[in-house]
Amino acid sequence: MKYPMRAAICREFNAPLSLENVTIASAQGQEVKVQIEACAICHSDISYLKGYWGGTPPIVFGHEAAGVITETGDKTSGFNVGDRVIVTLMRSCGSCPSCGEDLEAICTSPPAITSPALHDQDKSPVPVAMNSGAFAEQVLVHERQCIAIPDDMDFNVASLLGCGVITGFGAVNRVGKVKKGETVIVTGTGGVGINAIQAARIAGASKIIAIDIADDKEELVRRLGATDFINPKTTDANEAVMALTDGHGADAAFVAVGASPAIAAAVPMIRAGGRVVIMGMPASDDLVAIDASDLAGSAKSVIGTKMGSAMIREDIPMLIKLYQQGKLELDGLISHHFDFDAINEAIEVAATPSSLRVVINFAHD
Ligand SMILES: [Zn+2]
Ligand SMILES: [Zn+2]
Repeated sequence: MKYPMRAAICREFNAPLSLENVTIASAQGQEVKVQIEACAICHSDISYLKGYWGGTPPIVFGHEAAGVITETGDKTSGFNVGDRVIVTLMRSCGSCPSCGEDLEAICTSPPAITSPALHDQDKSPVPVAMNSGAFAEQVLVHERQCIAIPDDMDFNVASLLGCGVITGFGAVNRVGKVKKGETVIVTGTGGVGINAIQAARIAGASKIIAIDIADDKEELVRRLGATDFINPKTTDANEAVMALTDGHGADAAFVAVGASPAIAAAVPMIRAGGRVVIMGMPASDDLVAIDASDLAGSAKSVIGTKMGSAMIREDIPMLIKLYQQGKLELDGLISHHFDFDAINEAIEVAATPSSLRVVINFAHD
């Protein structure tokens, strides 16, 4: 039997991935097979790898990818072999009540696809995580997970649009509905946070206060639009926010750190009537302690969002346009490139607080 591709398989949480030869099923129905050219490492991949969200290995992670369609099922309508696409984890039906309310990230009846699409050399099935499994040379996905990209768009920057960028933008525009002149806090300046900063700048926020424990992020976040930078390890963040907002608190806070202390800390920093948007995905059962009298007495809202409540068919083309117009920075968000062979090293680097986006590249024969 011929093994046409390699995948980085998680055989055990907290252990290095194992690069193995695998087989991949052929595309049926509305499925497409995509040869991956670039896959960014998302913090969600790292959380999964550490076992924060459960699941049972073996699993193939990776969900922020771009590549070329190499095979289409007999019912695909939007794509042809050779099309260049972004692969997202968002597989939605387009017709359920959630999809009808522009919340495709929480689609209640996502279409099924061949599962498992991958088998290892012992012919054992290898499930993929987050509808993608893009830490692999090819993926089998539903065509609705793919968005076409222009011929001249680099796969590396395109891959970023599959998750972190749409989440940050969606959180600010679709969920937080930031208006011109508002004051905004962004806690955590990783892949999602830096894009919430860009979105707030484009929306016309008058003040964008970035909060992060990595001082070496300050220069980048200021370049992307942050007007102020607070390191909560060395400065009382609440006091600093009050000083910057004339004692009222910010209009909105966007929390990219997926951990309850960061969410709890944001609530006192917003003004009466303001909103806290939870963008980062906390570990399962991470309970947050919030002063309920502050919520009720000051009419504050705490809103959760998955994937920034993005609608990929609208949002990704809009972001591509902003990139082409020079308004959206993508190239400068990538700090490291690694070959697929060095994926374990790439994940280690991606887990350090001072790295930006780390992208894996694939050499195809
Ligand atoms: Zn992600
Ligand atoms: Zn749906």
